[in-house]
Amino acid sequence: MFNNQTITRLQQIETPFYYYDLEVLNNSLLACKQASSKYGYHVHYAMKANFNNKVLNAIQQFGFGADCVSGNEVKAAIEYGFDKNNIVFAGVGKSDKEINLALDTDIFCFNAESVEELFVIDELAKAKNKIANIAIRINPNVDAHTHHFITTGLDENKFGINTWQLDDVVKTLRNCSHLQFLGIHFHIGSQITDMEVYKNLCTRINEIQDWFAEKGFVVKILNVGGGLGVDYYNPDTNAISDFESYFKVFNQFLNVRVDQEVHFELGRALVAQSSALIARVLYVKNGLKKNFLVLDAGMTELIRPMLYQAYHQIENLSRNGESGNITEDNTPGLSIGKNVIQYDIVGPICESTDCFRKDVEMPISFRGDLIAIRTTGAYGEVMASSYNLRDRVKSVYSN
Ligand SMILES: *Cc1c(COP(=O)(O)O)cnc(C)c1O
Repeated sequence: MFNNQTITRLQQIETPFYYYDLEVLNNSLLACKQASSKYGYHVHYAMKANFNNKVLNAIQQFGFGADCVSGNEVKAAIEYGFDKNNIVFAGVGKSDKEINLALDTDIFCFNAESVEELFVIDELAKAKNKIANIAIRINPNVDAHTHHFITTGLDENKFGINTWQLDDVVKTLRNCSHLQFLGIHFHIGSQITDMEVYKNLCTRINEIQDWFAEKGFVVKILNVGGGLGVDYYNPDTNAISDFESYFKVFNQFLNVRVDQEVHFELGRALVAQSSALIARVLYVKNGLKKNFLVLDAGMTELIRPMLYQAYHQIENLSRNGESGNITEDNTPGLSIGKNVIQYDIVGPICESTDCFRKDVEMPISFRGDLIAIRTTGAYGEVMASSYNLRDRVKSVYSN
């Protein structure tokens, strides 16, 4: 991602900013496209992961659909040229205004997350004399084996409809004349790297679709959600997620009936490796027990470490790109070699949690050094805020 020429270029630019490598993005999109088309699978991009305009344009041009979680995302999907027949709308708290907008836009499908929501969509569709396509988001109670902050498919989570409520759902679907049942939807969590988790999901989906079939419902769409993880520890040597294994699991374990479509909603795996947050060292604070690198970027630019205890690789681009990083088993290298020192890497925001990582082994660093925080293409720029009345973070592109 960073050759000397790129680093020289980035040195000239005011920090902080998100740097996007569009070649990395394209490679990832291509790998996903190739792996999914082998099985005729439909992939919708989960727009919330990154709605930067160059990123969205690239994804739209690849022909992916859009998975939206707000009315404004539906609107943006249309503006960016996504086909309305490839737009789905999920979310546990869709407002009337958002539902009306999606009805007016004639999107492909609502992923409905409660019986109450079904009644509201039916009523609003009736007022417009329209029929709303519905997929039922079901909580399959499958453990995603990921960080509990980003698990969504357990009984205790707010998302989706629990299986014991499905009798109610079926009754509601029968009684609501302006709803058209299309299929079932699942999304069990994010940053999933264990393919066994998806195998377990397939088993649950097979049971649940049989249940719907017994009730006399034709399940046309199986939407299995997203959540495929990326390698935060090896952003260069493992820049592309394992799309091949991912789609293969579904091909092996999901019972797909004749005329059924399988839909996916990937966010992170498509975009995460394509960006790094670039910052400068403002101050080096040497304490008795701790040394701090104070950067000019903080939780206002990238909140994942503070919000989810997320790991990001951090590199000092001004010191030969020597990185001080820990291994995946979380053991910091014990031997601190020549010119290597441990720092807590923190931001400028007035919160104690404004820390990217603690005890990071780094080459001895100085004021003005350029720092790259890697793998920030997903849930990075989109979560930026202006807390402390900070400037909105900028973006810079490889070409
Ligand atoms: C966020 C989200 C996704 C995408 O999750 P990733 O982990 O980024 O792949 C897919 N579907 C729904 C409903 C979501 O909310």
